[in-house]
Amino acid sequence: MVAGLADAPRPDADLFGPRLVVKVGSSLLVTADGTVRRDWLAGLVADIAARVKAGQQVVVVSSGAIALGARRLGLPRGGRASLEDAQAAAATGQIALSSVWAELLGNHGLTAAQLLVTLDDLEDRRRYLNVAATLGRLLKLGVVPVVNENDSVATEEIRFGDNDRLAARVGAAARANGVILLSDIDGLYDSNPHANPDARLIPHVETIDATILGMADSRSSSGMGSGGMVSKVEAARIATAAGATLAIASGRIDHPLARFAATGHGTVFAAPRHAPARKAWLSGGLTDRGAIRVDAGAVAALASGRSLLPAGAVSVEGDFARGDLIRIVATDGRTVARGLAEYDAIDAARIVGRRSDELGDLLGYAPRSALVHRNHMALL
Ligand code: GLU
Repeated sequence: MVAGLADAPRPDADLFGPRLVVKVGSSLLVTADGTVRRDWLAGLVADIAARVKAGQQVVVVSSGAIALGARRLGLPRGGRASLEDAQAAAATGQIALSSVWAELLGNHGLTAAQLLVTLDDLEDRRRYLNVAATLGRLLKLGVVPVVNENDSVATEEIRFGDNDRLAARVGAAARANGVILLSDIDGLYDSNPHANPDARLIPHVETIDATILGMADSRSSSGMGSGGMVSKVEAARIATAAGATLAIASGRIDHPLARFAATGHGTVFAAPRHAPARKAWLSGGLTDRGAIRVDAGAVAALASGRSLLPAGAVSVEGDFARGDLIRIVATDGRTVARGLAEYDAIDAARIVGRRSDELGDLLGYAPRSALVHRNHMALL
């Protein structure tokens, strides 16, 4: 424990709610000569372990694979001279990165799990649902998922490229209440703090408007990671639209998570009380692939915020796959909601009108909790 921290308040177990994503940048994890900053990381892992023990579920989004792999392979420019170099460096560094997380979390009796995802995995609705389900299951099992971009298979055009936006997307998939970006800078400033000594930290951002965008500076100060302030503000936009509060806080101190919980020093982008944007992309614009007709009881249940269960469904129309956008239609033909199907049309048709305890036998596999889950549904 670092000096001065002993007296700090215990981490607030409610920091941003029950589910938290913590993103760690490359320059915090890896020294300029390409080795893991173990002592610092051990302090962060102790903070994470304290939160998990206090009942919070934590997902880690960890950068550092490219920086670590570049050193092992002796590649120039930190492995970022070409896409091929970055892919080879990521493949080599990722295995070291995972093992250090697994070892340090293991020292606290915690199990780590690795998830490598590409941009496509989170854009495609079906794969997004699978990622969401896996994260949900891991968190319920008390595991700490450690996520990174699958840089070895992503090509330039289809990469996130920075883990800030990845962390925000993962936060949405995990239905996290908060995302904390630990960075080599302690927050958003009203002008570039490296150039202007009078630059002021913005502690709280209510709305991401043109003024806030103008304050973001696209240069990463370390030159090691790829995310600058522009990608952090974009991450804030993605996270808050999905209903999660996002904070940028300094990782340039020991026990950065406990410190942030104790002091709140950083920039916090508030999530709107309701998260209309996540529902907005469900309710508007996209072409649906089919419909499920439901009875009056189901319409009432949906209106009170419940998921659509097979028992309330009457019939299935169209040829949709699991993850496709479908309409939920009342018996009078009115579309009452749109959402993502948890089953394909064939399996959905097999279970309409059936009670939950009949589903396993009918389907031959463990059933999902709903036909359309309320988290993936927008009422119209
Ligand atoms: N995914 C990259 C890595 O692990 C880092 C991306 C970033 O710099 O944010 O090295």
